[in-house]
Amino acid sequence: MSSPWILGLIWCVLGLVVGSFLNVVIHRLPRMLAMEDGAQPYNLASPRSHCPHCQTPLALRHNLPLLSFLVLRGRCAFCGSPIAWRYPLVEVSNALIWVSCGLWMPAGQQGFDAGTLAWACGGSLLLALACIDWETTLLPDSLTQPLLWLGLLAAEMGWSGLSLSSALWGAVVGYGSFALIAWVFERVTAQEGLGAGDFKLLAALGAWLGPLALIPLVFLAACTGAVVGLVMRARGQLREGRYVPFGPFLALAALVLVACGPARVLQWAGLA
Ligand SMILES: [Zn+2]
Repeated sequence: MSSPWILGLIWCVLGLVVGSFLNVVIHRLPRMLAMEDGAQPYNLASPRSHCPHCQTPLALRHNLPLLSFLVLRGRCAFCGSPIAWRYPLVEVSNALIWVSCGLWMPAGQQGFDAGTLAWACGGSLLLALACIDWETTLLPDSLTQPLLWLGLLAAEMGWSGLSLSSALWGAVVGYGSFALIAWVFERVTAQEGLGAGDFKLLAALGAWLGPLALIPLVFLAACTGAVVGLVMRARGQLREGRYVPFGPFLALAALVLVACGPARVLQWAGLA
């Protein structure tokens, strides 16, 4: 694969297609978890994709990632209702993650190898988790668990540049530190601060980035989360009785950290 343009284009198309699937996961997974036993079959494949307004099932040509949104000018082909901006945004964000992984891997790999694909899939899991947490304040186990195990596998296979022991300690420190903070917070304020989903997400990020990188990661996430939370409170946009979910900021901080190179960030922070 000689030309970076062709390589980039292939990763871009793959990223758009996977991003389109992520939209299904983001919309359906929280509803699947809330389903009662014995209810209508509802999963990632069934019922078929349909317009949420007029319920008309979508044909393949209405379902092409990004292209259909552009051709239809953001409206349903049947009833003309606007299509949520989240759909093209998730597709484009995921394509950006996949192109970045394909062309500028942190470990210096390039092209089509299992390690690059593992990083791209890790980024997609993170994107789905961030969107679901933002909309529902849930971080489903069915996404945090694969992210954790993929991180440990990436260390063992030499894809993440971490030793397996560092990845393991990253997971333990990530889970343990948040569980401890949450326990103390609950004792002191009698309120729930961090949820168990946050512990598992930080464990997964620790497995990918190692224990030390969690310090700048949590710092960055807490700062951006606090700023966004204050702005939302000032504008009266905080959902009633609910806090700003922390997962999206952890995910964003992790993406920034990977983009800058965890080793470089640790040097800046004076930790390495
Ligand atoms: Zn419609």
